[in-house]
Amino acid sequence: MEIRTRFAPSPTGYMHIGNLRTALYEYLIAKSQGGKFILRIEDTDQGRKVDGAVDVIYNTLKMTGLQHDEGPDVGGDYGPYVQSERMGMYMDYALQLVEKGKAYYCFCTKERLDSLKASNEHGDAFARYDRHCLSLSQEEIEANLAAGKPFVIRQLMPNEGTTTFEDVVYGSITVDNSELDDQILIKSDGFPTYNFANVVDDHTMKITHVVRGSEYLSSTPKYNLLYDAFGWEAPTYIHLPPVMRDAQHKLSKRHGDKSFEDLINEGYLVDAIMNYIALLGWSPSDNQEIFTMDELIKKFNISGISKSPSIFDIKKLTWMNGEYIKAMDFDKFYELAESRLKDAVKTPGVDLKFIAQLLKTRLETLNDIAEMVDFVDKLPEYSTDLYVHKKMKTTPEIALKALKAVVPVLEAHEDWTNDSLYECLMGLAKSMEFKNGQILWPVRTALSGKPSSPGGATELAVILGKEETIRRIEEGIKLLEAAE
Ligand code: GLU
Repeated sequence: MEIRTRFAPSPTGYMHIGNLRTALYEYLIAKSQGGKFILRIEDTDQGRKVDGAVDVIYNTLKMTGLQHDEGPDVGGDYGPYVQSERMGMYMDYALQLVEKGKAYYCFCTKERLDSLKASNEHGDAFARYDRHCLSLSQEEIEANLAAGKPFVIRQLMPNEGTTTFEDVVYGSITVDNSELDDQILIKSDGFPTYNFANVVDDHTMKITHVVRGSEYLSSTPKYNLLYDAFGWEAPTYIHLPPVMRDAQHKLSKRHGDKSFEDLINEGYLVDAIMNYIALLGWSPSDNQEIFTMDELIKKFNISGISKSPSIFDIKKLTWMNGEYIKAMDFDKFYELAESRLKDAVKTPGVDLKFIAQLLKTRLETLNDIAEMVDFVDKLPEYSTDLYVHKKMKTTPEIALKALKAVVPVLEAHEDWTNDSLYECLMGLAKSMEFKNGQILWPVRTALSGKPSSPGGATELAVILGKEETIRRIEEGIKLLEAAE
């Protein structure tokens, strides 16, 4: 049997990390077994409609490479793939259940239902419906329908016994049927309830594996009873534990946690994000941590999914992102870095590619770029304390001597390349009987005005060019002299 999974997002306008992980696992389950990955848009809750929200879903799937085999934009044999375009079919399915005695018309007014709730001891909104309309005769039903009385269709739940289903991650789950309300399948406006549409869609789209958040675990017995009522085979259920912000709280966009788009805007790479979220709730049998999508497809195994909630650790993602940047092909990196470099460096003539080469091994996210190169356009104000470096054995006094000696040497130097400048400064250190660091650290400091920089003294000199290099060293000399 062909494996068919589906991603069934409700368009909210952003991609929650937990939802993206669901999509990834659905994709991996399908692709690891040569199956199909389907996109269905669950937009029946029109009240929550957000403009452009469906595009966010398409864009995310495109960016992440979770390419669906069937869906609203690519078509397929089981469409339409947008729930709101399927509205015509649900009533027919509900009527099939009425015919089989597994569902019934309910004409109760809102007032009656409210009074039921009120008469319930706790005023519990989830109190079971009292099945008032179950006893209506066929004539009464027909008369009500002919009179145009508003109605809903309810599922007739079993009175006794238990319902059990197997979840691949959570194991066997059993509920007492007496706890299940005769849930509404078709609302009084003729539209299906979310639960009903979801089951009919999964069945008619031939979905074999339903992967979704564990918040749906408690509804699953009801879903299963619907499959039973129709005489359909229920899919394999794979509920995923929540992604947490910390031990107590779920990750939540409303509480400020980051969505996929936020992470992209903050300079994280798509591949690093996908790699990281693959590991949020799944682990391979070995300890491999860095995976390409192809490796994930090969290695992913449902049995590696854990039921314990995983914490979204931004530090770990940041580390992983840095590893991806280091490992990236330079041209691809430059493509991503270029616009940020152009925004951050306005001085004409600066070799941005040279800077990018230096940055590539030092960045954790692309957004670090601006801060790391801010010294190029303007030397920041700095204190002479920066010239103190224990390991380099420098003090402001040594730095002053070094910088004073460097100026004439650099003025005379023609070949403004890194290697040649390095050799030149090394020669100077030797002739002065200074340690290399006693020349390099003061120059690096004078050129950047910062405690750390994306390159050493000579690399910074290449970035800034001869004139600006000498100007900054002279400025350093003035600063050190004033502090004496
Ligand atoms: N539309 C649901 C959601 O976005 C998905 C439910 C399901 O996968 O069954 O949470």
